Amino acid sequence: MLSFSQGESLALRAQTIHQVFAETAARFPTRPALIVRHQNVRLTWSELAAQVESLARGLASLGLEPGHRAGVWSTNCLEWILLQLACARLGAVLVNVNPAYRSWELSFVLRKSRIRALFFHPRDARADYSAILAEARAGLDSPLAHAIPFGSPAWLDLFHSAAPPPPEPSDPFAVANIQYTSGTTGSPKGVLLTHHNLVNNGFLIARCLQASGRDSICLPVPLYHCFGCVIGAMVSYNTGAAIILPSASFDAHATLEAIHQERATAVYGVPTMFISLLHHPDFARFDLSSLRTGVMAGAPCPVEIMKRVISEMHCPEITIAYGQTESSPVVTMSGVHDSVDLRVSTIGRALPCTELKIVHPESGQTVPAGEPGEICARGYMVMKGYDQEPEATARAIDSEGWLHTGDLGLMRPDGYFRITGRARDLIIRGGENIYPREVEEFLFSHPKIADVQVVGLPDARLGEVVAAWIRLRPGESATEEEIRNFCKGRIAHFKTPQFIRFVDEFPMTVTGKIQKFRIREMEIQARGLQSAAGIETA
Ligand code: AMP
Repeated sequence: MLSFSQGESLALRAQTIHQVFAETAARFPTRPALIVRHQNVRLTWSELAAQVESLARGLASLGLEPGHRAGVWSTNCLEWILLQLACARLGAVLVNVNPAYRSWELSFVLRKSRIRALFFHPRDARADYSAILAEARAGLDSPLAHAIPFGSPAWLDLFHSAAPPPPEPSDPFAVANIQYTSGTTGSPKGVLLTHHNLVNNGFLIARCLQASGRDSICLPVPLYHCFGCVIGAMVSYNTGAAIILPSASFDAHATLEAIHQERATAVYGVPTMFISLLHHPDFARFDLSSLRTGVMAGAPCPVEIMKRVISEMHCPEITIAYGQTESSPVVTMSGVHDSVDLRVSTIGRALPCTELKIVHPESGQTVPAGEPGEICARGYMVMKGYDQEPEATARAIDSEGWLHTGDLGLMRPDGYFRITGRARDLIIRGGENIYPREVEEFLFSHPKIADVQVVGLPDARLGEVVAAWIRLRPGESATEEEIRNFCKGRIAHFKTPQFIRFVDEFPMTVTGKIQKFRIREMEIQARGLQSAAGIETA
């Protein structure tokens, strides 16, 4: 038996995000749609629909047209959801910008995506976004015509536009969303996803969760990432399940409190978030008995943590999903009625309308069941491509339409999958993907650095953390502090190396290739990280 599996075939939805949303809003007008606890916002589906309609008119009044790109650079908030839906209503393409991006990354994305209007929080406890934007725009040749801070008069005016309602686009195969994912070549790539990709991924995930208008999903995961805006929002728009945003960015206490006070029936998170919830000092004070289901995804999921979510968080139907931005994102998932053993120790099986195979990383041949290889996926969920990157697109999607994920896994004879490792050079720190190459290229811009190698080290809470081995230029000296200060404000905080070691040379093969795995092994030894390296995952 070969490692090939095809999910059940069923009729997909041929609608735009707006059409799906409008249908649900008409079905459940008075039920809660969105609760944003840190903004004190509670909207029913009809209230949400009315705000979306006003904002869509406002966006049109800025001159935004179908196909134009609008960026949202923000942590979780009401405005994020409104922009997602208003862009879909108008046919504009929503560009998700990671709120942790700083000037170096932001200026790249503004230029690359040709963003015409950018919406953002002017500042919060973490950063002065207006100042970062000003730095990113300096000397930048980009078509950015509008930079509108939330809450500003320009933002509020958008809800009172006298413009006529724009026409409703109806092509489900048009691009709806660009999500950035760091490319292996060093700079981030914009993944083009269509309405059809996103609506149907949400539709099929909702089936696995048996989600309905009676559910309310506590969403501590970021909306800029597909975990929030697809696994969260698209499931809600497809089913009428309410979304609860507990906080602007992850906060364990706020998440526990939101589940307790709102009687949430589902909770999502990357493994690191669930670990923080379970270890919160006030954990026992919260009543989590309303929970029914949830999704853990985004990084290898520890079996032990899954078991504790079932028993200690009273979440009997928790599931694991696996996928990546390029596949909208989910390709495998467990169902709420799969056995506990399957749900904690595998990443589930192929979603409907999804083909999966495991291939030998070198020969490309499909391997026998049970043998590890690279996971490849094909079907409705494969991205349209990387924005303006035909060569990178051709490397990711082969001529037969298979998306090569770069993840290593195996298919068991019963059709359930497991993750065994990664073929590509990627670090996942608390669910945030980091391409070592991108951090290395940034650190190269430091005048004292001659050469640098970035690797991931195991960590019990974050899964992995970033470590850098740095060779300084002859005669130079530097401190760890100095290197970290150089990163501050220029690259996202999660990419900043936690461990830094100044070295004279790197371990090499005889042919002169740097052996990153040896750097990792030497650090694990030197820092005593063996137990974190041995954690069992699904
Ligand atoms: P992203 O494109 O940011 O969604 O990141 C996708 C990557 O996260 C995948 O290619 C995997 O390496 C990893 N990933 C996602 N879900 C899982 C999972 N359930 N188990 C292990 N790794 C995962």
